[in-house]
Amino acid sequence: MSRSVLVTGGNRGIGLAVARAFADNGDRVAVTYRSGEPPEGLMGVRCDVTDPAQVDAAFKEIEEAHGDVEVLVANAGVTRDGLLVRMSEEDFDAVLETNLKGAFRVAKRATLKMMRARQGRIILISSAVALAGEVGQSNYAASKAGLVGFGRSLARELGARNITVNIVAPGLTATDMTASLPEERFQHIVNQVPLRRAAEPHEIAHAVQFLASPNASYITGAVLPVDGGVAMGH
Ligand code: NDP
Repeated sequence: MSRSVLVTGGNRGIGLAVARAFADNGDRVAVTYRSGEPPEGLMGVRCDVTDPAQVDAAFKEIEEAHGDVEVLVANAGVTRDGLLVRMSEEDFDAVLETNLKGAFRVAKRATLKMMRARQGRIILISSAVALAGEVGQSNYAASKAGLVGFGRSLARELGARNITVNIVAPGLTATDMTASLPEERFQHIVNQVPLRRAAEPHEIAHAVQFLASPNASYITGAVLPVDGGVAMGH
């Protein structure tokens, strides 16, 4: 069973691990990238998820090459950390625009075709921070918590069309996003994780793959933490 899969922000980090996992499974995988070169062996489409025209153009390109998107992984995300008292309007808006509204744009575009096909899988990449909160990440946590309400609403809207919508909430994961953290801060976060280490991107990819698989056919509106236990109970 080869499906048309789109992973936004699939040129590096968690998105790339997710894209490779689907490709290894025999799926037809496209990833979005903003600059540089697309990853080897995967179809790359240039797309900034903050631009609706680029989102539409990317879907058209993928639909021509791979057919309508059957599995959407909304993964593209950014941080602009800072304490609330120092956080600018621009830092707040930029994070919401990419993380939450970017997911809205791609989910809406994918859903138009999924509804017609009466099947589809949408997986939104949120964060443990959405559930537990984090100092200096009020914009990021708001965007990621927004994805939970957004995804659960879609699960209710689209369930009758056999489309599942689930949310994955990773904890600290070893990617470029966390490589910029000062060593002391990184270690402080690791010490709060029951498993006492950061996740590797492929560990997040396994959860995403499961939610897109036939084994998850009766799971929708779920928030699946893949966080070494750090946000358990939330
Ligand atoms: P990276 O910083 O390594 O990668 C981010 C990806 O998002 C890149 O591919 C980037 O593209 C893409 N992206 C950012 N902004 C846009 C945009 N406007 N349009 C299109 N693509 C965009 O991050 P991670 O791999 O660590 O994170 C992936 C997702 O997982 C994010 O949503 C993040 O919030 C979430 N997450 C990460 C955690 C972690 O500890 N790493 C923990 C919990 C959640 P480009 O290369 O062009 O910049």
